[in-house]
Amino acid sequence: MLFGTISKFNYFRAFSAQGNQMKNHKSGRRNSSGNRSFSKNSGRPNFRKSNSRSRFKRFGASPIDIQQFIQKATNTVKLKPVIIQNSFKDFGFNAEIEKNLEKIGYETPTPIQDQSINHIMEGKDLLGLANTGTGKTAAFLLPLIHKCFNDNSQKVLIIAPTRELAQQIDQEFKKFSKNMRLYSAICVGGMPIFRQISDLRRNPNFIIGTPGRLKDLKQRKNLNFSMFQNIVLDEIDRMLDMGFVDEIRQILSELPKERQTLFFSATMPSKIEVLVQQFLNKPITIKTVTGQTAANVHQDVIKVSADQKFEHLKKLLSTEEQKKVIIFSETKRDVDKLAKGLFAEGFKVDSIHGDKRQNQRQKALSRFKDDHIQILVATDVAARGIDVSNISHVINYTVPQTYDDYVHRIGRTGRGGHKGTALTFVN
Ligand code: AMP
Repeated sequence: MLFGTISKFNYFRAFSAQGNQMKNHKSGRRNSSGNRSFSKNSGRPNFRKSNSRSRFKRFGASPIDIQQFIQKATNTVKLKPVIIQNSFKDFGFNAEIEKNLEKIGYETPTPIQDQSINHIMEGKDLLGLANTGTGKTAAFLLPLIHKCFNDNSQKVLIIAPTRELAQQIDQEFKKFSKNMRLYSAICVGGMPIFRQISDLRRNPNFIIGTPGRLKDLKQRKNLNFSMFQNIVLDEIDRMLDMGFVDEIRQILSELPKERQTLFFSATMPSKIEVLVQQFLNKPITIKTVTGQTAANVHQDVIKVSADQKFEHLKKLLSTEEQKKVIIFSETKRDVDKLAKGLFAEGFKVDSIHGDKRQNQRQKALSRFKDDHIQILVATDVAARGIDVSNISHVINYTVPQTYDDYVHRIGRTGRGGHKGTALTFVN
């Protein structure tokens, strides 16, 4: 029991002792053939399919059927070993990249890195189906950094669904390409466009952006998509969910014919299949998705009436294990109200949502990352793609409207192989 008055449904559980995939890289045991062996979740709970057709309409549609959701999570997680075939040395990266990887402390590739890097290094098009938080950023960045270092005329366009994800990709880029004289520009909304225009004039190899701002820059003639021989679409399923399909089509159709195209997605709705057929050239498909939710995230529900919710939340947040918590609520107003209420109760809390300026969102995120605050209250959209490695708990103060949103919310915890807990308030 979490605490006395809360009744809890224990069957809402896909918790597994094995989930420390990423942490195990350092300690991954070698098997008889000298490969490292990892465990993965092969038992995929039979949840509602998360393609865009099955999404509930935002308004006027029935919410997730919690009961069905809970029962289907009773499936025990079966374990199957994942064999990691390569070490980072096997990929043939430039010495500078190897040095940087050593500094960062990456010792063993994750499954998506292990299975996709060789193909990307060979210049092939690739569709990577991987859960969020499994190391896909390095899977595409490392080979592309290698390529640009060898041929400075190469240009890479990376498109991500949100500003935060674009910024995280840029942070990873800077770590992997340190001292290599490769540069990047970020082109995302909510930040001054003129600064981005002057960054673009410096002729960076990597441009990382969100679809809307990239389109704006193109319309202003500050960006010409025909100069990119390499394109990465990260979290393409999210971008389609967010309604960016036209922008993506437009950008892809303006790229040169001779190019390398990489798509990454956690799910494979039919809309993506169409894009793959149209825009990828004989792609290799790599699938390391191990279930829609990570096996190392303990999931549970808390049954509580609406008038008791805030009291319960306070008690929950006061328990010792709630070290770093992201709380989701539905609307911007609810997020503000909840953050204010918790602040008034003495919690260290900040909030992010779409009405906040980008620098306010960044500041809240940095304070959260650096442990200056314990709690971040967020809307779904604002929290998309956030990669903070040690979030201990995700609390769904409101039930998400779609199962996709749920998967995305709880993917903020249990990252990089850490264990995490996701709790959903239901009444
Ligand atoms: P991503 O899915 O790219 O957002 O990565 C999730 C987290 O895993 C990030 O914090 C990465 O820094 C970390 N990570 C990625 N690849 C590795 C690796 N090979 N070894 C250890 N950590 C990694």
